[in-house]
Amino acid sequence: MPINPFVKMTATVIRSLLGTSSCKMYPYTKPVFYTRTRGHISIDTEKCILCTLCAKKCPTYALKVDKPGKTWKIERTKCIMCLACVTACPKKCLHTENQYSPPVCSKTEEVFNVEPPAPAKAESCPDKNASV
Ligand code: SF4
Ligand code: SF4
Repeated sequence: MPINPFVKMTATVIRSLLGTSSCKMYPYTKPVFYTRTRGHISIDTEKCILCTLCAKKCPTYALKVDKPGKTWKIERTKCIMCLACVTACPKKCLHTENQYSPPVCSKTEEVFNVEPPAPAKAESCPDKNASV
């Protein structure tokens, strides 16, 4: 026999009133961040070579790489944590932190100064005229 909708609704109301609230009183109740929570993107600036691949792959244009200015910028309010940049980075210098970015009142860019590592020196060619 189908349950009367009014009875069903009343049961839900009573459960909500007597049970524990599903709403958390943030910021008084701190949120739980799990190991695999996609919080925010972070960069290891010492490994970045300013190749711009991450910015090219970003679907929301949240990233800007300025090669001459040696900066890597992210506008966090645009980032949807798709991780396309993390996958694309050839130097594996992008990764996720499981903490969310703090709330902001305006759109701002976070700027990171990057000093690309010096290119590795090519091994010198053996001297063709050297005596054996
Ligand atoms: S996670 Fe996705 S949206 Fe966020 S910066 Fe990377 S590519 Fe862009
Ligand atoms: S973060 Fe990675 S993909 Fe982006 S510019 Fe630096 S090296 Fe290239």
